[in-house]
Amino acid sequence: MSLSLPPQAHDHLGHTDPNCLFCKIVAGKIPSKVVYQDDEIFIFHDIHPWAPVHFLMIPKVHIPSLAHVNESHVGLLGRMMVLASKLALQEGCNPYPEGGFRLLSNTGAEGGQEVHHLHIHVMGGPRPWLKG
Ligand code: 5GP
Ligand code: ZN
Repeated sequence: MSLSLPPQAHDHLGHTDPNCLFCKIVAGKIPSKVVYQDDEIFIFHDIHPWAPVHFLMIPKVHIPSLAHVNESHVGLLGRMMVLASKLALQEGCNPYPEGGFRLLSNTGAEGGQEVHHLHIHVMGGPRPWLKG
């Protein structure tokens, strides 16, 4: 299968940004409550949760946003999607269909992105939530 996605972000593959908050969290320079990690993915609790369950899934490499992904990232993004469902249940989300969870990836200024290292929010648990 071939996907037509913009050929961006090659410069970032395999790299970290010393000024990036989430790169510092991956490196352990800033502490976090880790949910999961492997060679390429790091998952940790959001410091200001909007929902009873709220964690962030990030690649270990510095990719600034979802606007920077290309065909080389299909496997990485697919593995993150599969982990989202498994870890949502592990962290306390109720099962589908009564429970469930929400994924969100704010991208760029108009998308509301504040930290410029690609991240996917996973939120769930009984409502009401603080936002959304
Ligand atoms: P954005 O607005 O870029 O989509 O989301 C950034 C998220 O990172 C926010 O929900 C914010 O609470 C979270 N965040 C910011 N700084 C830290 C931190 O130092 N540690 C953790 N665990 N989360 C953070
Ligand atoms: Zn980074």
